[in-house]
Amino acid sequence: MKILFVAAECVPFAKVGGLADVVPALARALRELGVETAIVLPHYRGVAEKTELGECATVNVPLAGEVRSCKVCRGTLPREEVPVYFLDYPPYFDRPGIYGERGKEYPDSLERFAFLSRAALAIPEAVGFVPDVFHVHDWHAALVPVYARFDGAMEAKVLLTIHNLAYQGIYPRKRAMALGLPQGMISAITHRGELNLLYGGIKFADLVNTVSPTYAQEIQEDGEGLEEILRERAQKGELFGILNGVDYEVWNPEIDPFIWAHYSAAGPARKAINKERLQRELGLAPEADVPLVGMISRLVDQKGFDLVMSAFERMMSLGIQFVLLGTGNPNYEEFFRIAIRRHPGRAAALITFSEEWAHRIEAACDIFLMPSKFEPCGLNQMYSLRYGTVPVVRATGGLADTVREYDPATDTGNGFVFSEYSLEAMLAALRRAVDLYRGDRGAWRRLMVRGMCEDHSWRASAREYMKLYGRLVGAS
Ligand code: ADP
Repeated sequence: MKILFVAAECVPFAKVGGLADVVPALARALRELGVETAIVLPHYRGVAEKTELGECATVNVPLAGEVRSCKVCRGTLPREEVPVYFLDYPPYFDRPGIYGERGKEYPDSLERFAFLSRAALAIPEAVGFVPDVFHVHDWHAALVPVYARFDGAMEAKVLLTIHNLAYQGIYPRKRAMALGLPQGMISAITHRGELNLLYGGIKFADLVNTVSPTYAQEIQEDGEGLEEILRERAQKGELFGILNGVDYEVWNPEIDPFIWAHYSAAGPARKAINKERLQRELGLAPEADVPLVGMISRLVDQKGFDLVMSAFERMMSLGIQFVLLGTGNPNYEEFFRIAIRRHPGRAAALITFSEEWAHRIEAACDIFLMPSKFEPCGLNQMYSLRYGTVPVVRATGGLADTVREYDPATDTGNGFVFSEYSLEAMLAALRRAVDLYRGDRGAWRRLMVRGMCEDHSWRASAREYMKLYGRLVGAS
């Protein structure tokens, strides 16, 4: 079986959020199961520094009444021979940002990602990698099944994975010219009067999935305006939820090159060295017994930052230390810049994007906070489990599927969970965590180690994807 991924993000070439971690990790996991995978990605600025590129082909991309010629360079994922075909079209992709700059989306996103989808369809013939299934990710690649339907000649099937329904690629209908599609198709991908690329993808893909079973259910009730089409596909048995996994080659405290001291479930004691070092590096008081609470996140409404903002002083009054790594909404950035000044030696905020610090914070913290309003899957709670950093999460989407409340009576569970989206519920869960940390170190250690021993690798999920591919190609 041959699968061609089409996506806008992929570590180490381009990362904004979880999508970037998922694409290469799933491609690798599938490869280990004997599935031939390759990835199509825009040739963003800086890509050439991260892989050796060979020029291998040219594709002609017909859009808006014009055919553009695009170079395709072949690289590979690090560590593995998964080929990555980069679409080298400088007018669209040789820019400092992936989606935009300084918080502003590029005004030609519609054209850029229509180009990605259109060009991806020309890849098989150009490079000789002829897939059984195009596996397309999020709205950026959602026009693949639309153009495939329009062309009418493609044998490959299309699986669309929705990583986050909050991003749909919505544009005024008057910009439809850019897509080079006939009126009938334009109408078919118009939703509530506007072009909606994700809607088009959901409609025309052969199968659709999201990144956790709970989110797949939730979005049929509250699907950011797309619940009707999602319900329709679900009723036909064509909508699935498959949990993301963790790439333990990258997120593993036993081998993580970014952290100060390696440790494992069998010997978690050296985790304390990471805490001490992080406290020192970030100007936090070197107190081993104060619970250190971490957050690593895009600073967007989805992640529950309105709760954190309004609860911040009460959180700090639980006697914790707090560290945040994130960028995004300038209001949240500003809030944290100011809030930490009120707690010298006890709170720190790194308002930046840093892979290195993300790993260090995972290794150093005792508690990881994710009070998301909604969360399609969430990766950091699973990273936290492996790093012995006990997650405190809201029960939504993938968080509900991966974190179970600690039960002192049976000594089970792997974290702390709250349901209601409220400041009180979040504080209560955090308080339960802090109380256990302070009150019963033995139980805390068992809780940590239980999480560290869990297996959230891609293996099981990759098998689920194989089942979907199998359905698509009529194989078992
Ligand atoms: P989302 O895709 O909604 O952003 P996920 O939890 O699925 O949320 O994935 C987020 C990924 O992005 C994680 O790998 C997380 O560590 C990373 N991340 C988010 N913000 C930052 C940041 N400021 N610096 C480094 N990594 C970050």
